[in-house]
Amino acid sequence: MLEDKNQSKTSLAELGEFGLINHITKYFKVEHKSTVKAVGDDAAVLDASELQTLVTTDLLIEGVHFDLSYMPLKHLGYKAVMVNLSDVYAMNGKAEQITVSIAVSNRFPLEAIEELYAGIQLACDTYKVDLVGGDTTSSTKGMLISVTAIGKADKEDIVYRSGAKETDLIVVSGDLGAAYLGLQVLEREKQVFKVDPNNQPDLDNYTYLIERQLKPEARKDISGLLKELEVKPTSMIDISDGLSSELFHICTQSKVGCKIYEDKLPLDPQVISTCEEFELDSTMVALSGGEDYELLFTVPISDFDKVKANPNFSIIGHITAENQGLQLITRANQEIELKAQGWNGLKNN
Ligand code: ADP
Ligand code: MG
Repeated sequence: MLEDKNQSKTSLAELGEFGLINHITKYFKVEHKSTVKAVGDDAAVLDASELQTLVTTDLLIEGVHFDLSYMPLKHLGYKAVMVNLSDVYAMNGKAEQITVSIAVSNRFPLEAIEELYAGIQLACDTYKVDLVGGDTTSSTKGMLISVTAIGKADKEDIVYRSGAKETDLIVVSGDLGAAYLGLQVLEREKQVFKVDPNNQPDLDNYTYLIERQLKPEARKDISGLLKELEVKPTSMIDISDGLSSELFHICTQSKVGCKIYEDKLPLDPQVISTCEEFELDSTMVALSGGEDYELLFTVPISDFDKVKANPNFSIIGHITAENQGLQLITRANQEIELKAQGWNGLKNN
């Protein structure tokens, strides 16, 4: 899409660094009281008030974290913001500001950066966060994008990875594995395209999977939902690397073990049918496929009635003693030790 020869292009060199920064930031509005000064000075100024401040950063590199042959730049911008907001929501906080730093090679025209920022702006508008700064530089090869999100939360509301207790229930929002399968579908189409560029892929059976891969949504809603239900999680993490690996983080930091049940893992019907087609084990995909950006959390067992009937949540197991380790109970009632392998591990299999 980027190399579309028919589009008119404006070279970045023509515009210059300051011209570019001005061009990409001028349409962003400031929404939050806590944003005292956004883009335009040596540093942004934020009013931290009496709440605690949450800060999180992710760095995305072309060829490592994204492939522009099937990732539209607008989606990349949107997703780069989502992965950071997801980390703030996983602390049970509210995200209010982001900074965006980019490095681009001269292969990218201004129109490409505009696309990227259209996605960033859509994310800012939808999730009500202010763009308050960043940095812009050139790279010798490819694109890098780093987003920092800044949020806040009442000290009492913050949820760490370390608070899970024996007998707590393990809960996950949404469903698992779809984003990983979306990537598999897109990779397959890329290979087909290489052989036959005129082939028009029929992706109707994979719409949900592809959307989960290309346009993930961070779970901003969960914090409010839990408040309404009067549930405070004892621990929480977002699912970026895969359920197994996130369970491993919670168990290690909370010094506990866990038992999760294969038949409780939430799977979308498209995940099930596509796993059959690709001859993949759907449990494996749910456990190790990454980039779902759902929230995984634990709640006291006394909250069972409050979470059990909620369509946003699946109770997938419970916390055990540390010496029990991490276990998956299969449909055949067998106990299997969980391996903390993220989607990279799955890829190498
Ligand atoms: P400095 O030389 O002090 O680093 P810059 O010229 O890099 O300043 O940045 C000027 C202003 O524009 C600052 O407010 C900075 O945060 C903002 N900015 C720079 N690059 C970006 C970007 N890619 N996205 C958003 N804001 C940016
Ligand atoms: Mg700078």
